[in-house]
Amino acid sequence: MADTARLSVRDIRKSFGAHEVLRGISLEARDGDVISVLGASGSGKSTFLRCINLLEIADAGEIWVDGEQIRMAQKGGRNHPASQRQVDHIRSELGMVFQSFNLWSHMTILQNVIEGPVHVLKRPRAACVEEAHALLRKVGIADKADSYPAHLSGGQQQRAAIARALAMKPKVMLFDEPTSALDPELVGEVLRVMRALAEEGMTMLVVTHEMSFARNVSNRVIFMKEGQIESSGAPEAMFGAGATPAFRQFFGHFGG
Ligand code: ADP
Ligand code: MG
Repeated sequence: MADTARLSVRDIRKSFGAHEVLRGISLEARDGDVISVLGASGSGKSTFLRCINLLEIADAGEIWVDGEQIRMAQKGGRNHPASQRQVDHIRSELGMVFQSFNLWSHMTILQNVIEGPVHVLKRPRAACVEEAHALLRKVGIADKADSYPAHLSGGQQQRAAIARALAMKPKVMLFDEPTSALDPELVGEVLRVMRALAEEGMTMLVVTHEMSFARNVSNRVIFMKEGQIESSGAPEAMFGAGATPAFRQFFGHFGG
């Protein structure tokens, strides 16, 4: 089904105690969409991504990945995934890249990249190693395969984390401020890899404060405010005449 959304989120809500952090968020990503999620700190961007890959469980709403709805059940008055098997499957379809890299420090870069395909997907190790080398070439760190994460710069570690996520052949890549922890001179090398992925047609949801990425690479921009989508649209509209006052004020802070 060519027109099935890769990712569809319908009216998800999430509270922590009395604090409703997500107040009804909906979004649809079709094949090749690159969606930038912008918003002030505390607006719920990370919680939104974490609900999509089930690191948090939304209280209400629907999440569909590549046409498959994540089934929920009620337990003790709260939402829970109905099937751990489905959770594992859905997670393997969503590549996640965090601000803090999160590589396994006791494993080499190559081991980090093949871990998921070998142990989760149960694919033959030799093929995974070959693909891992190709992925490391693609992100520009072919020479770091046998190094440990601590011996890499932050930009190299983040590119390794992207390679590790890609090794699972995800349907959608989720990025949560992938360049926010990097020294300024290392941001560009990570954004270049992300841009190349976008140009290859990867479906991506990117929480970022990099306005140049939002403007020039993504095909849709979503502006979150206090747990809701305040406005969204094509970057030309969002950064042009279509900007709402709230969004204009927000991106003004980033020199937009
Ligand atoms: P953003 O990524 O946009 O900065 P977050 O999704 O991290 O926003 O956080 C949104 C709000 O939810 C914040 O007020 C934050 O303190 C709160 N929050 C996030 N995670 C938790 C948690 N596990 N427990 C309680 N409050 C949380
Ligand atoms: Mg965040």
